[in-house]
Amino acid sequence: MGRYNEFIAPVKCPACGGADDVMFQALIGVLQLDEFRVGDGVLHRPSTMRRPQVGPTVTLTHDSFWARGLGECPRCHVDLWAKVLVQEGRFVGVELTEEPADMYDWGYL
Ligand SMILES: [Zn+2]
Repeated sequence: MGRYNEFIAPVKCPACGGADDVMFQALIGVLQLDEFRVGDGVLHRPSTMRRPQVGPTVTLTHDSFWARGLGECPRCHVDLWAKVLVQEGRFVGVELTEEPADMYDWGYL
């Protein structure tokens, strides 16, 4: 996926039924392997990189949106795809989905 950030949220794995915190890689915010937990602000974090990359788009002015996230169940190791949800600039949780046709897909909430 190139550079990304990590978004950690509890999910119930559809394959094994385990309920654990899962780390999802997603292109949200300044992409520098930052770790976000539910409730954290995702926009306007200072960049530690000389040439910052920002996702899903540098022109993002709307504070509520979703982007694709890819995680792995810590118990059975299946891939878990999700929408990573941002409300008013804060990471609020994830919603499991099928594997998307386009992993760079995103939209406003
Ligand atoms: Zn599982």
